[in-house]
Amino acid sequence: MVAVAVIGAGIAGLTVTAELAALGHDIFLFDKSRSVGGRCATRRSAVGAFDHGAPGFSATTAAFRAQVAAWRHGGWVGAGSEGDALARHEAPQHSTPSPIYGVPSMNALARQLEAQLPARVTLHTDSQVTAIEPVSEGEGWQLRLSDGIACTARFDAIVVTVPAEQAALLLAPDAAQAEAMRHTRSDPCWTVMAAWARPRPAVLETSLSIDAQRVLLMARRDDVRQGRTHEAGIANRWVLHATPQWTVEHLDAPAETVTAELLRAFARLLGTALEAPLHAVAHRWRYAQVRAPRSEPFGWHPALRLGSCGDAWHAHGDPGSTSPDGIERAWLSGRALAQQMHQTLSPL
Ligand SMILES: Cc1cc2nc3c(=O)[nH]c(=O)nc-3n(C[C@H](O)[C@H](O)[C@H](O)COP(=O)(O)OP(=O)(O)OC[C@H]3O[C@@H](n4cnc5c(N)ncnc54)[C@H](O)[C@@H]3O)c2cc1C
Repeated sequence: MVAVAVIGAGIAGLTVTAELAALGHDIFLFDKSRSVGGRCATRRSAVGAFDHGAPGFSATTAAFRAQVAAWRHGGWVGAGSEGDALARHEAPQHSTPSPIYGVPSMNALARQLEAQLPARVTLHTDSQVTAIEPVSEGEGWQLRLSDGIACTARFDAIVVTVPAEQAALLLAPDAAQAEAMRHTRSDPCWTVMAAWARPRPAVLETSLSIDAQRVLLMARRDDVRQGRTHEAGIANRWVLHATPQWTVEHLDAPAETVTAELLRAFARLLGTALEAPLHAVAHRWRYAQVRAPRSEPFGWHPALRLGSCGDAWHAHGDPGSTSPDGIERAWLSGRALAQQMHQTLSPL
């Protein structure tokens, strides 16, 4: 039995944790946030919940399709476009349709995965890891947390599942993995969550309208999918995602400016003036989607017992199928790393 620390409890972290625990290892899962899910995110508010991170996902490989079928059987995911995406720009790196979604929210899928973790998994939320440090030669690892305190536990192996740009720093003990992550870039995404009291005009079918200014990547009605709640006095909720290019150009703009610009772009898309929303909040995803994932399925240094997985890895799917998108890559990568680790790990 081996003690493994997994850093990051998004889809990749939850997957590698579940697989390793099922193989008999003790897992200590750390996440800097209050709860699990990472970019598979849902923001709760007085006007209802918004899936403001990944709006959904696709399943291109046989392995992930089988997993999704099991999740669907359990009622954890639904599928179908249901006309909720008003417009999605042609953006080659993000053009895969994402018809599968969490029920009753995107984050609920991650919470279901968390709920299934066996007792041998210990979850530490609100725990930001700032460094991975050797205990002493060949004696395993310890973690340093953001409060400056070293976590006194000794781990036989470490897995890093945080976004590539942040993983590059944590993976410093292995120059090759750190370098691989340093060269992986993610696009940022400004996102606006907005709600109106009165229904929008009848524009809910997938529309061919394109925002000529290239501000919006996607405008998506968020309250029409299976399991979504309906708050009294709220007719509809929308999530607006800016294009990567617009986000880069406005990365440090104030949130109020971004909200106003995205709402203006939404009105242009609808071809109508918009009344003021009852609720409009912007969120900046600094690392939303990986631009060019690595072709390897994961990173793993068997002598150091230091690995990494997540959406920065596993660019290739099954032969002849389209490339997997972010959530599928995170799952495939987490699963593949767990299998590799199990073959090579024995207690120190
Ligand atoms: C706006 C948007 C749209 C998207 N659209 C799609 C789509 O259509 N289809 C699709 O498949 N994917 C999409 N994605 C991408 C998808 O969400 C990600 O690829 C996937 O969720 C990545 O999972 P992960 O586990 O690799 O990383 P994450 O979900 O980022 O998980 C990493 C976790 O690590 C934690 N963490 C970070 N640093 C530390 C630290 N130092 N210490 C401890 N914990 C830490 C974070 O809190 C997080 O929980 C989208 C994402 C966004 C934001």
